[in-house]
Amino acid sequence: ATPTAVMVATGVGANHGVLIKGGDALERAHKVKYVVFDKTGTLTQGKAAVTTAKVFSEMDLGEFLTLVASAEASSEHPLARAIVDYAYHYHFFGKLPNSKDARTNGKEAKFSGWLLDAFEFSALPGKGVQCFVHGKRVLAGNRKLLTESGVAIPAEVESFVAELEDSAKTGILVAYDNTLVGVLGVADPLKREAAVVIEGLEKMGIQPVIVTGDNWRTARAVAREVGIQDVRAEVLPAGKADVIHSFQKDGSVVAMIGDGINDSPALAAADVGIAIGAGTDIAIEAADYVLMRNSLEDVITAIDLSRKTLARIR
Ligand code: ADP
Ligand code: MG
Repeated sequence: ATPTAVMVATGVGANHGVLIKGGDALERAHKVKYVVFDKTGTLTQGKAAVTTAKVFSEMDLGEFLTLVASAEASSEHPLARAIVDYAYHYHFFGKLPNSKDARTNGKEAKFSGWLLDAFEFSALPGKGVQCFVHGKRVLAGNRKLLTESGVAIPAEVESFVAELEDSAKTGILVAYDNTLVGVLGVADPLKREAAVVIEGLEKMGIQPVIVTGDNWRTARAVAREVGIQDVRAEVLPAGKADVIHSFQKDGSVVAMIGDGINDSPALAAADVGIAIGAGTDIAIEAADYVLMRNSLEDVITAIDLSRKTLARIR
């Protein structure tokens, strides 16, 4: 595209809240064949809230929630925030919150002196957290975390988790002293426009894909709800860029859209990286386009703009 065409398109984009970082990105977007969507915070609202807590041990619910919250308090992960908020509410109000009440929208829950001391905290990206409470190991995360740590998952727990996942929730398994003690279910609502945008892309001849670190069942349930057939789940943070490369192998032009730190290698690897404006700075930096209105509809706006700009100069 000529400098003038780029300037005009950049201006039109800006009016729609689509920030375009340069002419190359504008040009590449017109022949996008795949749009790879991150799940959490991109297809979903990124407002995780605990919906279920079930104890599978002698512990009472309050003890269980305080234990998990103590383990998760040092994690910055959205799932961890949801858990700490939920447990905090139960601790101070003596009842389970509904998902709106549970949000403290701040960090006060972490500093109120109600949490247990957690030692040797470590975050295991794509899996969960580990620490020690009362000298015993606490694990909170997915199946992979527990299995790799040598904790057995009883059949009744497995089927409870599978049920949560089939309704698009993420199941968080918790172990204390190498025994499974309970499960939490976390829901993150879909963005309203998600399904319509997927349909729109397909009409444009573009194939949507979902990539996530979350488990296969949850990923498939979300994909089903928005109408995506191609699912890549249980992808470790380092693996998202590999997924992009695999689509590029036959020369296809691939767009990636994401919001998280763990999306930034994939955003950089994609021919067209698109960041959600509300996403992390690292994602925004790695991207070619930034959607300032945080609406997925603007993915279509961005590709349309590129197509029209290139059509005009041919
Ligand atoms: P996403 O691609 O959805 O952003 P992540 O790679 O951040 O996913 O996490 C993948 C999975 O790892 C989560 O769905 C969850 O099962 C587990 N996990 C990660 N961090 C935590 C945590 N702090 N507590 C519990 N589980 C976690
Ligand atoms: Mg995300």
